[in-house]
Amino acid sequence: MHAMLPLLKATDFPAIRRKSLETLQVNLGYRCNQSCTHCHVAAGPNRTEEMSSHNVEAVLAFLETHRVPTLDVTGGAPELHPLFRNLVSRARALGARVIDRCNLTILEEPGQAGLAEFLTAERVEVIASLPCYLEDNVDRQRGKGVFEASIRALKRLNALGYGKPGTGLMLDLVYNPLGPTLPPPQSNLEIDFKRELGTRFDCVFNRLYTLANMPIQRFGSMLVSAGRFDEYMALLRNAYQPANLRHVMCRSLVSIDWQGFVYDCDFNQMLGMPLAQGRRTRTHISQLDAAALPGLPIRVADHCYGCAAGQGSSCGGALTV
Ligand code: SF4
Ligand code: SF4
Repeated sequence: MHAMLPLLKATDFPAIRRKSLETLQVNLGYRCNQSCTHCHVAAGPNRTEEMSSHNVEAVLAFLETHRVPTLDVTGGAPELHPLFRNLVSRARALGARVIDRCNLTILEEPGQAGLAEFLTAERVEVIASLPCYLEDNVDRQRGKGVFEASIRALKRLNALGYGKPGTGLMLDLVYNPLGPTLPPPQSNLEIDFKRELGTRFDCVFNRLYTLANMPIQRFGSMLVSAGRFDEYMALLRNAYQPANLRHVMCRSLVSIDWQGFVYDCDFNQMLGMPLAQGRRTRTHISQLDAAALPGLPIRVADHCYGCAAGQGSSCGGALTV
């Protein structure tokens, strides 16, 4: 895989600063039952990195002390972590809203019996990736059989009330383009997804988030190998919208890696650009001074154009709708 930071580091992306902390995003590790071509964390079945129980406790201690409103749990497939359910239940008991970044197929993996029921009981919000409502496109990006398994998982979640009106059980989908293009307008695509998944498979969901592929990790490396990196960066730069800067996720979120170190976002985490605070060049969650976060400069590089292009994209999809 090509090293991407040297290609992104020299940047003219505008300076941005943090606001108060609203979301703690925790990466429990890089193990995943899938190995998608666009994966910005280069996750897969053979990755062994996993958050220690000591660091899980440090995350919970931070959540309790600072009463961060939202815990956003990601990976890899976060559900594969042996302490996933423990972390979720304890965060819910602390009153946090919990988001599970779920790849859907994990619901059918060995050892995951009762996962859907657990998420329902804890009223966890599920944000699930589904790059298309067409089988061929999904299987090309995410692997053979992934589409069918994803539809079975959606049906299972729907049967438990997820995505259904009046249940409060949120099921959101994430779309990202198959190649080096910008995503189409989020609201139009959401209408298409709802119609197609409804009529073809009788599946429902709440919101669709559209995200641009980040020029980092597997996707960035693939662009370099194909000689299309500069072209993709030009596309992102030309679509830059300053208004998106107000809403990029790094202003109100910190991302924690599997070793407990803190970053402005998970893209910076993958690029090895840690959040620096005081004299520290990197900061462990147990050392993070939450009160000092507002106003702190965010570490930007050229990949940030991926968040600020077009409608913008962040963990929560388009920024301007
Ligand atoms: S399911 Fe998600 S974490 Fe797993 S390989 Fe695919 S994009 Fe990466
Ligand atoms: S990649 Fe996006 S979220 Fe991360 S620091 Fe840049 S603008 Fe912020």
